[in-house]
Amino acid sequence: VSKGCIYLVGAGPGDPGLITVRGQQLLSQADVVVYDYLVAPKLLRSAPANAELIYVGKKAGQHTLSQDGINKLLVAKAKTGAKVVRLKGGDPFVFGRGGEEALEAVESGIDFEVVPGITAGVAGPAYAGIPVTHRTLASNVGLVTGHETPDKTDSDLDFEALARWRGTLVFYMGVGNLERICSALVEHGMDADTPVALVRWGTTTDQRVVTGTATTIAAIAREAQIKPPALIVVGKVVGLRDQLSWFERRPLFGQRIVVTRARAQASSFTTQLEQLGADVIEMPTIRITPPTDDGPLQEAIGRLSDYDWVVFTSANAVEMFFAALAAAGLDSRALHGVKLCIIGPVTAERLSGFGLKGDCQPANALGRDVVEAMAQSGDLTGKRVLCPRSDIAPPDLIDALTARGAKADDVAAYRTESDCADAEQVKQLLADDRLHWVTFTSSSTVKNFFDVIDPGTIAGGSVRLASIGPKTSEALEAIGRPADVEAHTHTIEGLTEALLEAVRGDVR
Ligand code: SAH
Repeated sequence: VSKGCIYLVGAGPGDPGLITVRGQQLLSQADVVVYDYLVAPKLLRSAPANAELIYVGKKAGQHTLSQDGINKLLVAKAKTGAKVVRLKGGDPFVFGRGGEEALEAVESGIDFEVVPGITAGVAGPAYAGIPVTHRTLASNVGLVTGHETPDKTDSDLDFEALARWRGTLVFYMGVGNLERICSALVEHGMDADTPVALVRWGTTTDQRVVTGTATTIAAIAREAQIKPPALIVVGKVVGLRDQLSWFERRPLFGQRIVVTRARAQASSFTTQLEQLGADVIEMPTIRITPPTDDGPLQEAIGRLSDYDWVVFTSANAVEMFFAALAAAGLDSRALHGVKLCIIGPVTAERLSGFGLKGDCQPANALGRDVVEAMAQSGDLTGKRVLCPRSDIAPPDLIDALTARGAKADDVAAYRTESDCADAEQVKQLLADDRLHWVTFTSSSTVKNFFDVIDPGTIAGGSVRLASIGPKTSEALEAIGRPADVEAHTHTIEGLTEALLEAVRGDVR
């Protein structure tokens, strides 16, 4: 058995992009992931498909497991030889009880490593446009628990010292005690007009910020119904928010958008929307994995020079083919003398990355049109054709090649699995009415989406459907849920523009 280890990993404050490289790397190799309420759900996707994911979240009032229970769980899992990633919101050692978990590891003789994270007390203000220090406004910053009530006689907090602090104070876990914290600070001598901000769900699409002063903030927060998790930021730096607020000013900030995809390529649409501030959920997601049996692919690569043609039908096929080629100690030169047929511009682009151009690029992926295009560069009778493809690729290409007298080898280069975790997340968001848009870029995305999502669940809520053009809108109509928005220009850019327009037009 390999030696187990506990990794105390900071997940960052909420935005999944704010985990460290080391944290991400450990997560992607974890056997067990023990995670918290404040961890971005998207991060869990980086864990291997077969990793055990254990939720031990502590939402006020509902503890799934006591701290002692968590400590014991970590040790027990590590003792089986597992790589245990303890994924904690923010930084593990900042109000994260990571110290206790590390001590338990030491006492049990288990190896451990700490991967610091970006703490919410710095990142939340940053996303609210509040630098926690500033040359002329704050020369120090204090991270303080707001959990202890100031009137508690045995409190460890010295409010007299805090009131004299002069720099920035950031209180964690303090929403419930907001009023008492502020009045204690003022009673002990802090200027009653000191600016105060409350940052709820900082760095996420649900971020909400309210501001006031030490005197007014409690009433303002009550009025706005600010609930945990939130930070209380006290100090002059709060005033910079008027100028520096950047995250909430993005045009699609606060919009949770589903991007339905027909294929697995990293979507430029997603990137575009994220850059505009949206929170994007891709669905249904397809996971590409190596074939169950990679023997046939290896064998084909071993005798590449026997082939007259290789047909690349997708970028995934290119990736997996060249991975297998590299594993066999070969490179692009192994394709010397073999003609290449490339289907689709993305596939072509991927191949150009390996220095290769196609001998033939059919206009579409229909088997008979592909073979027609190939036949233009010479009779296919008796020619040997290698087709490294998905394990579930339709047979029409092979049939068409055979009909032309070619000898086609249909070889599984990868496996396509649909990733249901995302569908579950989308169902939950729909049930909670926390989804703003579902976008459709083709009629097949309409089919894919409603294969997993019951159209009835879309009915009552406020989610809106955006379509790229008339064909796609027709497909939605057929489902009985017409598009709310249709792009004027039937491209990804056009669809983005239509979303921007709709959001701008919303009375918010
Ligand atoms: N280890 C964490 C803090 C855990 S204590 C860290 O380093 O960030 C939990 C408290 O952190 C919450 O009550 C809240 O005050 C604060 N918090 C965590 N994430 C937050 C977020 N995204 N927005 C606002 N406050 C957050």
